[in-house]
Order: sequence, then C-alpha cells, then structure tokens
Amino acid sequence: MSVLKPVFPLNQRLRKRTLAWEAALARAVGNHPFVAGIAGTAVAAAMAGLTFVSLYAGRADALTHAHETSQSLVSIIGSDLERNIEIYNLSLRAMVDGAQRPLTWQLSPGLRQSVLFDRATDAEYLGGAYILGTDGKVRAEQSGEINPLIGLGDRDYFLAHQRNPSVGLFISHPFRSRLRDHKLSIGLTRRIDTPDGQFSGVALLAIRIEYFQHLLDKINTGPSGSVFISLDDGTLLARKPLTTSEIGTSVVRSPVFAYIAGHSSGSFVTVSALDGVTRMYTYARVPGTPLLAVVAPAVDDVLASWRKRSVIAAVLTFALGVVVIAVSWLLAFAVRDKILAETELLRLAATDPLTGLANRRTLDQRLDDAWLHSRRNGEPLSALFIDIDYFKRFNDAHGHAAGDEVIAAVADCVASTVRRSIDVVARYGGEEFAVILPGTPAAGATKLAEKIRRKVESLRFTYAADTQEAVTVSIGSASCVPSNGGTALELLAAADEQLYAAKAAGRNQVMSFIRPENETTHGASS
Ligand code: GH3
Ligand code: MG
Ligand code: MG
Repeated sequence: MSVLKPVFPLNQRLRKRTLAWEAALARAVGNHPFVAGIAGTAVAAAMAGLTFVSLYAGRADALTHAHETSQSLVSIIGSDLERNIEIYNLSLRAMVDGAQRPLTWQLSPGLRQSVLFDRATDAEYLGGAYILGTDGKVRAEQSGEINPLIGLGDRDYFLAHQRNPSVGLFISHPFRSRLRDHKLSIGLTRRIDTPDGQFSGVALLAIRIEYFQHLLDKINTGPSGSVFISLDDGTLLARKPLTTSEIGTSVVRSPVFAYIAGHSSGSFVTVSALDGVTRMYTYARVPGTPLLAVVAPAVDDVLASWRKRSVIAAVLTFALGVVVIAVSWLLAFAVRDKILAETELLRLAATDPLTGLANRRTLDQRLDDAWLHSRRNGEPLSALFIDIDYFKRFNDAHGHAAGDEVIAAVADCVASTVRRSIDVVARYGGEEFAVILPGTPAAGATKLAEKIRRKVESLRFTYAADTQEAVTVSIGSASCVPSNGGTALELLAAADEQLYAAKAAGRNQVMSFIRPENETTHGASS
C-alpha cells in the first residue's frame, strides 16, 4: 500500500550547519538584536568617552605648557631687570661715593664729571645722571650742562631720601623730565650724606621709560595676549600691546591686582577689565625692587590649536560613532530577519502545507528519535497508519478542492485527538496519515485509533444540493517495545499491514498488531 523510504540527507546537512559557531553567534545576535545594537551603541559611546577624556587631557596639557612658558618669560624679564638695576645701583653707589668726597667738589667741572659718572651711565636707555643738592637743584650732570633754574626738590625720590636716611636704592614713579624735553622716565636714586649723616643731596639716574618697553618687545604672547611691567602699587611702566596713554597710570583697581597683592609670584586666570579677554596671568616680583613682571597669554590663543584638533577629533569620532551604531543596529536586524526567514523556511520544510501537520521528512526523523528513546528506556512505542476510505470516489464525485477540504478536516480530527507534545502526527502522503505514540502501549494506541475513527465518522461535509456527506477512515495500529533487533520502519510497516487488513475487512475500522518483545518478525492479528 505504501512505500516506506527514509529521507535523511537534508536533515543531516541542516544539522551540520547549525552546529557551526558562526551560526551560533549569528543566531545569538539575531535572537537578541537589541542587545547587539546596544553593544554597538556602547562601543561607540566608549569611543566617544575615550576621545573626550584624551581631548580633556590635551586641554590641560596646553594650559600647563602655556603656564610653564609664561613662567620662563616672567623669569627672563625679571632677571634682565634685576641685572640692569644692579648695574645702575653700582653706578649710583660710585656717584654717591664721589659726591660725598669733599675733594670732588674742588676739581674742575670736567674732571669732576669723570670722577662722578662711570661708563654705565652711557647705557642706551639712560636719560641722564645727576647729583642733586639739598635744595633739589642739579649740582653735577653727566653731560656737563647744568640748568640752575630747574629744581627737583618736589620729586618723590628726593622727598623720600630727604625724609629717610635708610631708603637705599629708590625706584621712582614715572615722571616727565624737566631737564630732557619732558621725556617720560623713572628715576633710580640713592641718598648722599654728609660725613655726620645729614642729608646732602641725591644721586639720580633717569632711565627712559622705553627701556621697559624694549624688554617686552622680544616677547610674544599671541594675538590677544598681554605682558606688562609695573610698580607694585599698580603704576604701569610698560605694556604689550602698547597703549602709550596708559604708561604711568595706575592699574591698581583692576581685578588682576587683587590677585597679585601680597604674593611674590603666582598664576591665575581671570577676565581682563580692560578688554574682556580671559587671560592666564603669571607674575613675579623682581627681587629687591618694587617691580613686577606679568605675562598673560589669552586662554583662547593658548587653546586655539588644541580647539582645532579637538573639533576634527570630535567630528571624526561622532561620524565614526554614528557609523558603528548604524551598522550594529542594521546588522543586528538583518541577522534577525535572516534567522526569522531561515526559521520559517525550516518550518515550511518540516510541515505539510495543506494540513499544517508534520511532513514525511519530519516523520522519518521523529520516528527514528522516538525509536531510539524508547529502546533506551525500555518503553513501548506505537504507530498508527490512517487512510481515508474510498477517497478516490469522493474526489471523483466532488472534485479535488472538496477532497482537499476533507483531507484537512481529517487532519484536524487526528491532530486534536492526539494531544501529547511528544506524539507525532504526520501526513504520510495523499489521504494517508501516520501517528507515532512514544510511551504508549498497544491498548492505548488502539483506544486512540478508535477515537479518531469515530470522530472522523461523525464529520459532515455539505456540498451541492445541500446533501451532507460523511467520510470514514481505516486505521492500522502496531505496537512494540523496541529492541536491538528491529527497526522503526518495521513498526511502521506493521501498522501499514494492519491498515491493509482493516481495508480488507471492510474499512471504517481499527486493526492492531502487537509485536512480542525480542521478536523481529511480525504477523497480523486484531
Ligand atoms: P481505499 O478505501 O482503498 O483507500 O480507496 P481510495 O479510493 O481511498 O484509495 P486510493 O489510494 O486508490 O485513492 C486515493 C485517492 O486519493 C487518489 C487521489 O484521487 C486522492 N488523493 C490523493 N492525494 C490527494 C490530495 O492531495 N488531494 C485530493 N483532493 N485528493 C487526493
Ligand atoms: Mg491511500
Ligand atoms: Mg484511501
């Protein structure tokens, strides 16, 4: 009646493929597309985080580097000032010594000049060297031209020395020279004493204010940077960029001086009250003087190249991150769709399209598994073979489409009667069905077969002329406890034989065969 033929090769190929680790990974990704997408997003976020951390470190490096450069510049300016002032101080000491010697004043003016003023007083930015008397009038001058009308007794340096014998070296506020065309200068002075310690005048070196500006010319603090030299009371001596009108004015009220007050050196960042630019101020006092050197590059200048690099790095990281995120989500969903399609294909390959039951290939595989399982556990295994009676006649009478409906209805009947998940209901071919019942002995299988038969018998089909049709099935049942000697196909063949017997006995009935244990041959009985 039926040719029993195993169909294995495709199964084995599929199994082999699904064992590959790539497939396992793809399956994991496909089954959890959100996890894969989130993992990709996390990688992109980690990349962005790393970029941010390294950019932030780069910013700190740029600021540290600028701070170190400023410190070196401040120290270069300070050393220059200290060295020059020391030289001027030595000249002043020599002038004081000469002026205190009574003999000096008995010499001819020319000789007196060479005794009082040494070579340092020829320095480039020196405006003039003078000995002032107690009345503030010039007693001796480097150039020899003495203007007896001009008095300097009201100058801050004169008054300081007049009032206090222990001032030492005095650095004055900027003044407009009364002796040299109102040129802006500062005075470096020392007091001249009489032998008994009374005030006898002042030795004065007038330094042109350009000296300080000249010191700053060599320093580059960037387009918006600033550098200046001031007195510690905030009087500006030189500034770059230069605003001539500011020289000699006091900047003591600026917030910058609030930071500097009371410290000998330091560094801070603040917004300039003058132009609103944020600068990094580094300052130091020149030892032994009231002078202060301040270097202040603009933070924007310091960070300019870092910003340029950061924008490029940020844009690249962002673009790369977007690509990683997009690719990971696309890939995850693509793999998921592929796996869904594959699963659907496998399902289609395993089922019969008309009835939705397992097909012949699935039956072969499940029958094998059930046989091995039952043999291992010593459990009974039963098989039913079901065939619709006189179906050719039905088909001929009502057409193929009606025949299909009947096949589907009978399939539903069988499937709804056989309920356990380990049972297998398959369309064997045409109008034939096979049922595998693991763990079910002959009595149970026969009972179930009878139930199916009765259920099908009670079905009614309505076709033309409103006549109700019924169909019947014949069922062959075979059971055994699988042993090493037999095969699953033999069990199915035995059921087939019983079906044949049922047909022969008049149809619409169940015939059963029970194979005794350890017996490989079989015969029919009911
Ligand atoms: P028996 O009682 O001896 O089984 O008689 P039968 O007519 O059912 O037996 P037979 O095997 O000679 O005929 C089976 C018929 O089932 C042949 C064919 O017309 C019909 N058939 C097989 N497969 C299909 C199918 O998929 N759809 C439909 N509509 N008919 C089918
Ligand atoms: Mg048939
Ligand atoms: Mg038939």
